[in-house]
Amino acid sequence: MEVHKFGGTSVSSEEGLQTLEASATSGNVVVVSALAGVTDALEQFIQDACRGAADPDPIIEEHERFIAEHLEEEHREVREFLRKMETLLEGVATVLEQLERPEDRLKDLVLALGERASARLIAAYLRERGIRAVAYDSWEIGLVTTDRPGNADIIRWEGTRSKLMSDLRAGRVPIVTGFIGRSERGHITTLGRGGSDYTATVLAGILGVRALIWTDVDGIMTTDPDLAEARVVERLSYEEAMMAGASGAEVIHPKAVEAAKNLGVKVLIGNSRTANVGTVISEETEPGPKVVASREDVALIQVTGARMMDEPGVIGTVTTRLGDHGVNILALLTTASEPCINILIEERSVDEAREALRELDYDWEVREEVGLVTVVGEGMSPRDVSTFLSSCDGFDLLGSAYGAVAVSVVVPREHTREAARTLAEHLLD
Ligand code: ASP
Ligand code: MG
Repeated sequence: MEVHKFGGTSVSSEEGLQTLEASATSGNVVVVSALAGVTDALEQFIQDACRGAADPDPIIEEHERFIAEHLEEEHREVREFLRKMETLLEGVATVLEQLERPEDRLKDLVLALGERASARLIAAYLRERGIRAVAYDSWEIGLVTTDRPGNADIIRWEGTRSKLMSDLRAGRVPIVTGFIGRSERGHITTLGRGGSDYTATVLAGILGVRALIWTDVDGIMTTDPDLAEARVVERLSYEEAMMAGASGAEVIHPKAVEAAKNLGVKVLIGNSRTANVGTVISEETEPGPKVVASREDVALIQVTGARMMDEPGVIGTVTTRLGDHGVNILALLTTASEPCINILIEERSVDEAREALRELDYDWEVREEVGLVTVVGEGMSPRDVSTFLSSCDGFDLLGSAYGAVAVSVVVPREHTREAARTLAEHLLD
């Protein structure tokens, strides 16, 4: 038995559904995401509702389409849920029109509808094929999350193992909502975008089995196939997978990898369209560069000034202030005597960063036209690293830490893709 997670594209395509059916037939626990595009549509719905322009119909229709294409019988609980979903969306729209800005809890309540609907649709789909599938909202099998909206963590599981085991023993297949949870206080939460993977690795940990993440590619790729020739990476360590994900590679969610590492779960990644399993994430890996990743949604803050050199606690002051303004730091580097502190942040928080820095008495500059290029691989040689550097034009912040699992540079944004392409060609054979 394993835990099999199916992403949005996998639950929305005929081939994906066939792989899902095979998984269910073999008695695995199934974790599902919302239907393709639904979480984005729900996010957009919330935005539109604040302007008094929200329309729940297209979202409901997306689910109706699944019914029309894949179901033949009438499933009362599916219909009832969709009706409830529509009523809730209409109610939320009325409230948001008044409030004019989304409240985080309300947002989670809305986003959670996507997974709740798809679990019910998938269970109905399987039942029509003679499989005794039961849909569960994750809290119904005892998962408890922190209370933090938008990025909650799964912290406890009460009776989860025995509940799932007794279903499987009785020939029932649990279809569990990924991505969503409920806190001790009874609030519905979400685990962060892409968080269904995380639900799956936690459940695998609870059951002491492997997690198989079914997606629409054969596994983790050496680089973005749109940039350069890419292959599937067969083996990655937990650290490598985490760094690759954080650096912009299409990997499974970093929280999923972290949970897998902590709970000792072996993770497999496969293509639900072809049933090929390409990548295994575990303790094992070979030394050398494996993945070249890049992202352009970053900005570089440079805090400078001679007086910083002998003033104790400058880094703490700057980072605390940024933290107070909700700015998440991706990387931080200073030179030996710290006349310049380089701080890499997500581009979406530049306004908050500027606000934070204005409160401080240092010289600073925020550079938005930058990109991050990272090469990931445990045990890289100095030669790998120097090939990396000589392939990057006009690079700036250089970070290599964590036992050289990853080396990153910040480059002018217009060089990002070119640098990633050159690197993939030079470093990955
Ligand atoms: N449906 C959620 C999202 O789109 C969770 C997931 O797909 O893992 O972010
Ligand atoms: Mg995903």
